[in-house]
Amino acid sequence: MESARALSDARPTPFWLEDPGRPAALPALVGDTTCDLLVVGGGYSGLWTALIAKERDPALDVVLVEGHEVGWAASGRNGGFCAASLTHGFGNGLERWPSELAQLERLGAANLDGIEATLKRYGIDAEWERTGEIDVATQPHQVEELHEVAEAVARYGFDLTVLDADQLRAEVNSPTFLGGLWDKDGVAMVHPAKLAWGLKEACLGLGVRIFEHTRATELREHGGGMAARTPYGRVFARRVALGTNVFPSLLKRVRPYVVPVYDYALMTEPLSDEQLASIGWRGRQGLGDSANKFHYFRLSADNRILWGGYDAVYHYGGHVRHEYDQRPETFRTLANHFFRCFPQLEGLRFTNAWGGAIDTCSRFSAFFDTAYRGKVAYAVGYTGLGVGATRFGAEVMLDLLAGERTERTERTSLDMVRSKPLPFPPEPVRWAGIEITTRSLEHADRNGGHRNLWLRTLDRLGLGFDS
Ligand SMILES: Cc1cc2nc3c(=O)[nH]c(=O)nc-3n(C[C@H](O)[C@H](O)[C@H](O)COP(=O)(O)OP(=O)(O)OC[C@H]3O[C@@H](n4cnc5c(N)ncnc54)[C@H](O)[C@@H]3O)c2cc1C
Repeated sequence: MESARALSDARPTPFWLEDPGRPAALPALVGDTTCDLLVVGGGYSGLWTALIAKERDPALDVVLVEGHEVGWAASGRNGGFCAASLTHGFGNGLERWPSELAQLERLGAANLDGIEATLKRYGIDAEWERTGEIDVATQPHQVEELHEVAEAVARYGFDLTVLDADQLRAEVNSPTFLGGLWDKDGVAMVHPAKLAWGLKEACLGLGVRIFEHTRATELREHGGGMAARTPYGRVFARRVALGTNVFPSLLKRVRPYVVPVYDYALMTEPLSDEQLASIGWRGRQGLGDSANKFHYFRLSADNRILWGGYDAVYHYGGHVRHEYDQRPETFRTLANHFFRCFPQLEGLRFTNAWGGAIDTCSRFSAFFDTAYRGKVAYAVGYTGLGVGATRFGAEVMLDLLAGERTERTERTSLDMVRSKPLPFPPEPVRWAGIEITTRSLEHADRNGGHRNLWLRTLDRLGLGFDS
């Protein structure tokens, strides 16, 4: 109850989207228009696709339609951990694509460097800090697991720094920390909404035509190209890229592969110098603990702490609904866990509490394909790690649309790009399966990480549920 008091003035809105720099929405499309490439969706996925398309060919006429406002959804409300990993972490990549993991890690590192270079090139101030990330063990079995990961990573020629409890607490001081694994270069912290708005500005600067409050309601073939219907008009395009994330895909066949999973976060007020000194955190790394139900936490530019994760909630029927963005019981749990992690911050208050939907697929990392004989491409299924990987997905979509399926690029030759996850079963089996999995994961966290028969069976099938 004590910790819940810290929530009493928390606003039910994502902290990042309250920034006074939030740009006004651009007018909706009215009437018909024609273009070379139509991009649907104004999150990172769509914005990177539009930007890179113009960079590849400045003469290309690119239109982007966004159903609401650019960056309002996952891209403007996430934790801002921008990771090099394209596979939702090294462990997941190792399990699924061991023989091409070294290549995927190299492409992921180049992708992260590419994001940093783009920010510099267009002068985008997205509070980018290449601090790295520390995976934290808070239970003894997790210390062993972190050592195992460090050894596996080393076999691939990468170097992560193992920290014992004292070394970790010298970096970030919490009585709950037992050890850590520090990836010093593979993750950056970013202001997520400023990244989306900056990309929007850069797109406009290159001549992309952006229409907000313009939902594409239908996609069909038209002549040699495609036509998309919107509330007040139509877009005729030679090619279409779909960056619609967790929202119902315009391609019905894609829908069974993705379920919306709600993830939640709190933001504190700015810490005073003494409060910050009581934690240390001079390296300003992103942190995540290592349980199945994990927390992620980081500092903002003005020294607030974002504290998110733990509950990953799937609602029966798999709808994306505004009312799911608020979940007081999760906010209470998160507040409780926050003060357990940082008891020295007692009295600190939360200013914001929000949630958002993640496009979970059963392999936790994006998948890609085309439809309408190569005229439409999509990239979806990033699960909880799309801040960085969406730029890679944008490149893949553009490769596919350029017909590079026959003349493959390095990206489109990857097994990871050419394969798909298993779809989720229909309701009610879907809900029941996710429910059993969630309970089994909780049980494993309480029992030294021991995975029960259900989880071991899913592991063998390469199936799972994560955020
Ligand atoms: C709370 C939370 C925390 C997260 N934390 C992290 C993190 O720290 N690190 C990380 O890597 N990832 C994180 N993620 C995931 C990450 O935010 C996403 O993977 C990423 O933003 C996906 O970008 P996107 O462009 O695909 O999707 P979105 O940002 O969801 O954009 C999709 C856009 O498409 C629009 N759209 C959909 N359908 C249509 C249509 N028919 N017509 C027109 N427009 C349409 C939507 O309005 C939306 O704006 C988090 C997600 C959440 C919700």
